[in-house]
Amino acid sequence: MTVQEEGLGDLEVWIDQDLCTGDGICAQYAPEVFELDIDGLAYVKSPDDELLQEQGATTPVPLPLLNDVRESAKDCPGDCIHVRRVSDKVEVYGPDAE
Ligand code: SF4
Repeated sequence: MTVQEEGLGDLEVWIDQDLCTGDGICAQYAPEVFELDIDGLAYVKSPDDELLQEQGATTPVPLPLLNDVRESAKDCPGDCIHVRRVSDKVEVYGPDAE
């Protein structure tokens, strides 16, 4: 099912670094969106490839990468990748999704 079919609209993703184990699974699945910093924790990247290190920083989920980002959230050992709708901030994939 596509995002449009699910009616999800634009999505954004953020990482709770407090729970990140630093295993790097997300950066393997979606290196365009996630990257490990020298502190050993994963962060999201802006569309122009800048590492966003503020707590709770979000970045848009590009539609072609949605599956990779969704799988990252699913397989994240720290349960700390949160994907939510931009419009109402409701989490659609991740530990707080319904
Ligand atoms: S998959 Fe989760 S726990 Fe692993 S590095 Fe990425 S955010 Fe951290």
